[in-house]
Amino acid sequence: MSIAQMRITDIRTTTVAVPLEAALRHANGCHWGRFIRTIVEVDTDAGITGLGEMGGGGESAETSFRGLKNYLVGHDPFALEALRFLIANPTAGLYNNRTQLLAAIEFACLDIVGQALGVPVHALLGGKLRDAVPFASYLFFRFGGDSTGCHEVRTVDQLVSMARALKASCGFTSHKLKGGVFPPRHELACYRALSEALPGDSFRYDPNAAFSIEEAIRFGRAIADLTNDYYEDPTWGLNGMRQVRAAVPIRLATNTVVVNFEQLATNLRDPAVDVVLLDTTFWGGIRPCLKAAAVCETMQTGISVHSSGELGVQLATMLHLGVVLPNLTFAADAHYHHLVDDVIAGGKLKYENGAIRVPAGPGLGVRLDRDKMETYAALYRRLGDYRYDRDPARPGWFATVPNSAWANPEAAFWFDGNSARAL
Ligand code: MG
Repeated sequence: MSIAQMRITDIRTTTVAVPLEAALRHANGCHWGRFIRTIVEVDTDAGITGLGEMGGGGESAETSFRGLKNYLVGHDPFALEALRFLIANPTAGLYNNRTQLLAAIEFACLDIVGQALGVPVHALLGGKLRDAVPFASYLFFRFGGDSTGCHEVRTVDQLVSMARALKASCGFTSHKLKGGVFPPRHELACYRALSEALPGDSFRYDPNAAFSIEEAIRFGRAIADLTNDYYEDPTWGLNGMRQVRAAVPIRLATNTVVVNFEQLATNLRDPAVDVVLLDTTFWGGIRPCLKAAAVCETMQTGISVHSSGELGVQLATMLHLGVVLPNLTFAADAHYHHLVDDVIAGGKLKYENGAIRVPAGPGLGVRLDRDKMETYAALYRRLGDYRYDRDPARPGWFATVPNSAWANPEAAFWFDGNSARAL
């Protein structure tokens, strides 16, 4: 069959829960010891199946993808620009925002096209400029874990030892601290201690917009002497970020307030951030990220790569994107090293000298391990969803923006999979 005749014949989804080494704390709550993802398989009449991935899962996500079959069965997977308007026309999208669904389908279609042509996805995007994408260490405060016996990360010493261990095992030279959990003075001490412990490396801090403008300025000025990559989402909103930017001598980055082209245009007219973190899901696919990166290249706005908690399929999209971007001067973010396993054949992709090589095979270059898929689909069925925006150690608490009700840095907790108990 010629590729000109190829048509989508089915869209299949599987929700999986893959364990993390430990429950990871963030400004809105916690990743409760696992990532829940929807793995999408798009079949064609050429016998080629493409892979996609989306965050979250369960009946609602699977129903949403099932609903797309009416639109996409019979569609040519090569027709990627048409795909955008077919399911995510911006005015129709006011009634049914399908951007993240579109992203997963776009990944799968690029995977199909690459396999049909026998070339990796990066070759479809202009060709790779490098063989691997450098990543940052992405350090989290975390609970001690029951399943793997992982130690807690809460104190300055625990955090520094975690960073040293990750540097030793993965080779990171850039380190991101996910903050907004404990009082700013505690996180400031932690961040400065990282810098002192790892001389020559660079650092970035991201409290997920939890700070007031005044707190964000105080914290930013207190770290201005360090080797910062950037200061990520210290406060909420373009208007808040613009005020912090005027008062702090560090480049500001975001993955919250510039996540589409309208916001990108607004930021260019009246800058609020200096570095835009591209996310292959948030922006609706790999190709929109490439377009946004080209705008940023022209306007000399910085870019980096955001992580929304990926398994190997999504990680592959980040790698194919990362290797073709001429203006990617920062290490990318990934939660990947916090996972204990993956659903792709051959096991987790490996870090070498802080970087991961882009897969060499056709398409995205990753395929599913059916046994692992079944294992982690069963784990999802057993454990179900978790409340991302709640802290198991603080029942009844929820985050406000700005926040001022911080977790207690003196209190140790042990997490058992569904609840945290004080030690
Ligand atoms: Mg962020």
